[in-house]
Amino acid sequence: MNNTSSNNSSEEWTIDSAKQKYHIDHWSGGYFNIDHEGHVIATPKPDDSSLKVRLTDIIEEAKQRNLRTPLLIRFQDILHHRVQSINSAFEKAITEFNYRSRYRGVFPIKVNQLRKVVEEILGAGKPYQIGLEVGSKPELFAALAIQENPKSLIICNGYKDKAYIKTALMGQKMGKSVVLVIEKMEELDPIVAVSEEMGIKPILGVRVKLWSKADGKWAASGGENAKFGLGTADLLALAKRLTKIKLSECFRLLHFHIGSQVPDIFTVKKAVQEASRYYAKLYKLGYPIKWFDVGGGLAVDYDGSRSKSDSSKNYSLQEYANDVVYHLAEVSNEEGVPHPEIISESGRAIVAHHSMLVVEAFESMGKSQKFTQIQKNKNEHTFVVELRELYEGLKSSGKMEAWHDAKEIKEAAQSMFNLGILELEDKAKIESLYWEISQAVVKDFGGRSMIPGEIQQLDENLSAQYLCNFSVFQSLIDHWALKQLFPIMPLSFLDKSPEQEARLVDITCDSDGQVDQFIGQEKQGNTLSLHLPSISGSNPYHLGVFLMGAYQDVMGDMHNLFGRVNEIQVVIDLNHERGYDIQEVIEGDSIASVLNMVQYDENNLIQSMKNQIDNAILNHQFSPSEGSQMLDHYKQGLRDQTYLSL
Ligand SMILES: *Cc1c(COP(=O)(O)O)cnc(C)c1O
Repeated sequence: MNNTSSNNSSEEWTIDSAKQKYHIDHWSGGYFNIDHEGHVIATPKPDDSSLKVRLTDIIEEAKQRNLRTPLLIRFQDILHHRVQSINSAFEKAITEFNYRSRYRGVFPIKVNQLRKVVEEILGAGKPYQIGLEVGSKPELFAALAIQENPKSLIICNGYKDKAYIKTALMGQKMGKSVVLVIEKMEELDPIVAVSEEMGIKPILGVRVKLWSKADGKWAASGGENAKFGLGTADLLALAKRLTKIKLSECFRLLHFHIGSQVPDIFTVKKAVQEASRYYAKLYKLGYPIKWFDVGGGLAVDYDGSRSKSDSSKNYSLQEYANDVVYHLAEVSNEEGVPHPEIISESGRAIVAHHSMLVVEAFESMGKSQKFTQIQKNKNEHTFVVELRELYEGLKSSGKMEAWHDAKEIKEAAQSMFNLGILELEDKAKIESLYWEISQAVVKDFGGRSMIPGEIQQLDENLSAQYLCNFSVFQSLIDHWALKQLFPIMPLSFLDKSPEQEARLVDITCDSDGQVDQFIGQEKQGNTLSLHLPSISGSNPYHLGVFLMGAYQDVMGDMHNLFGRVNEIQVVIDLNHERGYDIQEVIEGDSIASVLNMVQYDENNLIQSMKNQIDNAILNHQFSPSEGSQMLDHYKQGLRDQTYLSL
């Protein structure tokens, strides 16, 4: 409810007001900030605030290279910093709780499979022997080739067929540490068969199904009804089979995964306690488990609320590490078993921060028909007369009552229109007057602490729509599918107060191609405070969507055939005059390439157009030179990108 309150000129707008409005200090993890001129800056190495770069400078630089928005910017230094932070948090916890073994992370490739991302993580994680986690054959094929350090782990989850198993064991034969995690009883037989064929003993892990269950949007991965993992009876049966076939010494890893984005630290505590018991009991039964794998789930605070809400988390990275280490140590000490090596499969927490999307908001569609500009005439419909009276009397009368009356008239007018007894001219006036009265009423409530529900709803209906040159389905799939929140804000003009509340709509043809839930101060809101796009003059008004690095990159779909967006990788480089360098450019999909994915061959398309144009020329529909221009336009257009070229 601040169509108007943000206009309040009595409080002076400062950079701090902008920081508060968009909560940047709460969600940015120290990687983004606002400079004194109101531009968003990236500070990819938060410990050194002198290393900073304005996002608008990067956008300008990209534009020089003919890379337009929508543009995805990746900060390789942030990936680096995330890997270091997670490792240091565990190292600190290990020292604090006298833990007598080590931590080693594995990166679950499914969270972001892009080669440059995975390579950067492996590079940053080299001192820590970071490994990879895969959940399918294609992921395994990628991991085997790019993970060259034999000491680093490759953990294989997901359902496995013989080809999957054979490929994994081939990696082991090559000297890599590849662990096959059994998710289902049925997987043991083929693993045994293939390993005998290959003359090798597999390194086995088992995924245990815990009773502890997470809240949140991804809770179904854990708990007793989970799709994956063995319950206690199956786990014991499997262990006994291993003993029987003399493979008990192959049982080296115990794994659980309670779901992604676990919002509540109590879930983590309970799960680690429960799984630690499984570890200890199995160890005492004679299975030499060396690795205790806590899976993923380490959450990202997307809305900056530090709460148990789905898009947040109520704990810090350090608290997470402390709880894992502390509870595992306690149970192990109590049971008299060695401290196992701790593995975590944090994906989201490593990659979410490193990329952000720039979109251009280029048109505002408000319900701003101005009734005052409509001429009054003699034979106006009684409804128009009545609404005009309500509007003119607004200052003195009760606003809510006036609005209720206006709404009643608007609805009656709708019925009359449907019956064919109201003319377009009158309907237009009635609608305009109704919106003006609504606006006045909403304005009247602006800034009040208690706002009735129906007025809040009205406020949202009145909010402007900003059309943004991107596809929610391609770039923000979790917002569309799960209403996950991402921080969104203007990238400049933050030294000026935003003037209106808006929803964002994309350029796909679907009404659900929009962003209508935003992070908010106390609770999420349905609108975002924005400037009028005209504030940037002839330049585009840019919005940034942040914390995009996890899952969004690889799950987006090609709805309406909008393809991948332009992408650049930025590294901080003090030797460079700009202080940063654009290291890698990946151009977005062309129209021809997305068409190719749905089986339209470029040459066939051109040939077919050519035949039709030739026929039209023969029929004298247009001249040969016009025809050849049309064909050129079509051919060149196929090379263009899928988004609007503004
Ligand atoms: C998806 C998944 C992960 C990654 O979870 P995050 O919450 O992104 O850290 C880790 N392990 C397994 C088995 C998974 O399925």
